[in-house]
Amino acid sequence: MITHPDSPLSEAPPARVEENHPFYTALLHVSVWLTWPLIALSVWLSATVLGQSGYAWSLPLLFAGGVLASDFTSGLFHWFFDNYGSPQTPVFGQTIELFRVHHDLPEDICNSGLVFTVGHVCLWVVPMIISFIGAWYLAGRGPLVSALLLFATLANLFLVLTNLFHKWAHLPKKPAWMLFMQEYRLVLETHHHNIHHTPPFDTYYCITTGWLNPLLRAIKFFPRMEKFLALIGVQKNQGA
Ligand SMILES: [Zn+2]
Ligand SMILES: [Zn+2]
Repeated sequence: MITHPDSPLSEAPPARVEENHPFYTALLHVSVWLTWPLIALSVWLSATVLGQSGYAWSLPLLFAGGVLASDFTSGLFHWFFDNYGSPQTPVFGQTIELFRVHHDLPEDICNSGLVFTVGHVCLWVVPMIISFIGAWYLAGRGPLVSALLLFATLANLFLVLTNLFHKWAHLPKKPAWMLFMQEYRLVLETHHHNIHHTPPFDTYYCITTGWLNPLLRAIKFFPRMEKFLALIGVQKNQGA
């Protein structure tokens, strides 16, 4: 087991939040089951407008854009939570703790069912999709706002799926279809993700597909962000 220098883990992993908070658990379940029909509705509304307005050609581009936006966002959040804040940070403390414990017990993610794998993201995605649809409706439902709605919805869909893809990367045994998807880099691939799990844990933060990892490493994106934050007085955690 490789221990991340900034992990809050002492001897035993902390109890999962869902084990101790029945209300939070119920909220996770409701969010997960609301997510899929809301995303389907949003995709249907926006894609129908684009199709009927002669912009069907934009659908694959918006799909690829949604995957890239999710990959980038997953990397940004992952980097931030690995290096800044603490388990006591308001609102995000639980997520920060989960990220850091993951470095010590990477295979623990494989023990979570669907609701606890994707539910923490669904909790944010449900109100966002509802407000996106509301804004699209108020903005006149034209092709441009429909393209924006579809892009934002797909980015959120892939953000929901990110922790599932991340879990798949850690599964010791995978079915053939999953191996196929990983091999062709449609989802996060195990060896690719293992680069992040190697000390000093400071690269390859993107965990949807990992497509952006080589580029972000080549342009030193995260070290430059850290330098910028240090310049404005935001320091990394000690040891991170
Ligand atoms: Zn990490
Ligand atoms: Zn991992």
